[in-house]
Amino acid sequence: MSLRHFLRSAYLIGVYFTLTIAPLFVMLTDPTPPGRGFWRECSIGLGFVGLSMMGLQFFLTGRFQRLTSPYGIDVVYHFHRNISLIAFLFIFLHAVILFISSPETLILLNPVISPWWMIVGVAGLLAFAIVIVTSLYRLKFGLCYEHWRLIHGYISVVAVALSVAHIIGVGYYVEGYLKRGLWITMITAWLLALVYVRVMKPIIMLRRPYTIEKVKRERGNSWTLTLRPEGHKGMNFRPGQFAWLTIGKSPFSIREHPFSFSSSAMKTDSMQVTVKELGDFTSRIGEVAPGTRTYIEGPYGTFTVDRHVAPGYIFITGGVGITPVISILRTMADRNDRRPVLLFYSNKTWEGMTFREDLDELEKQLNLRVVYIITGDAPEGWQGERGRINAEMIARHLPADRMRYKYFICGPDPMQKAIKNELGNLGLSLENVESESFNFV
Ligand SMILES: Cc1cc2nc3c(=O)[nH]c(=O)nc-3n(C[C@H](O)[C@H](O)[C@H](O)COP(=O)(O)OP(=O)(O)OC[C@H]3O[C@@H](n4cnc5c(N)ncnc54)[C@H](O)[C@@H]3O)c2cc1C
Repeated sequence: MSLRHFLRSAYLIGVYFTLTIAPLFVMLTDPTPPGRGFWRECSIGLGFVGLSMMGLQFFLTGRFQRLTSPYGIDVVYHFHRNISLIAFLFIFLHAVILFISSPETLILLNPVISPWWMIVGVAGLLAFAIVIVTSLYRLKFGLCYEHWRLIHGYISVVAVALSVAHIIGVGYYVEGYLKRGLWITMITAWLLALVYVRVMKPIIMLRRPYTIEKVKRERGNSWTLTLRPEGHKGMNFRPGQFAWLTIGKSPFSIREHPFSFSSSAMKTDSMQVTVKELGDFTSRIGEVAPGTRTYIEGPYGTFTVDRHVAPGYIFITGGVGITPVISILRTMADRNDRRPVLLFYSNKTWEGMTFREDLDELEKQLNLRVVYIITGDAPEGWQGERGRINAEMIARHLPADRMRYKYFICGPDPMQKAIKNELGNLGLSLENVESESFNFV
């Protein structure tokens, strides 16, 4: 990581934690009101910090490039997922500690006599619980991605709104200029983030449409879509990056999917993505008609040689994980980049090796060697590698000065994990290893 990136990351983390605990500082500006002991104050503090963390999720999930670029969006989503659990725990403990330390407050749980702010507080807690449980157990509940996303988005907003109503109704630590000012500022910032993501961003995308010019079948049940910008210059991206595509729908719709660019980053007047038939949406990608309007949000991602400059590169990919790598190789060819590159490319079958012929061409243009690995049935007379990639197989092909290279892995999550272990077994530092997951959720 460069010093600039390090300082930027540290700065953003500092801002995040300051905003998270800001309500505590404001609480401390006044003496504790009489009759409220430590545990009650602790409970209120936990509730405030938990809510502040939940509100900040609107920034974490808003895909703001300035906020995500130092870390990579996958890391930000991972953080969002884990920090939500901590935030929920704080909010839950707020209620539990309050009821244990002041058992007389338990009577407020009776909805008949309970004040409105208590009812909305409990409803907010339940709403957060629904968001957390449906996220952790989406697949177990059989929730498809789109339905989950809808539930997740709307219920999160409702949960935060109910919790804000709760603290206003309770009225502790929200009186006075400083406290009121802080809460108004924080809530306004959350609302602005929401409006920007749900309204402004789609409007910006509406003004920068793309048209699908060509849909080409590739080996391995994959399709390459060529996209041409309509009335604008297109998007500058770095080789290896990805974007969210909304194909044939309005940018206000939630039907968007992340795909890596597979074309050269040097050609932005027309760009390509290559999609493998896998699920509900992708299995029908070959039916998309040329002329279909598409919206692109991006680019995102840190899986790019432009960010990790090195004397040479080793790529280890499996299946459709080849897409960001082909973009990197095509870009290197357009840039006449002669740095040495070794590509391990594993696939079930030889026939299904997407971009096989393109890689043959690139081997002629670049200082590139491709090691094909077949994990399923190999064709007769196959002399190449077979089976799962392991340390021995990698070591057989690595150059002597392998420590100087930067390593990039893209493939199914279990494969990535296994390869990182194998690279560790070869004595390579994971600091030199970048990976891209095609599964954020
Ligand atoms: C950074 C990144 C780059 C990717 N690049 C490529 C690529 O170049 N080529 C390619 O073929 N695939 C790529 N993918 C994977 C691709 O986005 C999914 O295969 C596709 O969205 C699955 O949609 P589906 O409806 O066909 O599958 P489903 O069977 O409905 O979903 C399968 C799984 O994919 C995930 N998923 C579904 N929809 C979305 C969504 N809108 N956003 C995020 N995750 C979702 C969910 O975990 C879901 O359980 C990439 C994914 C990521 C995160």
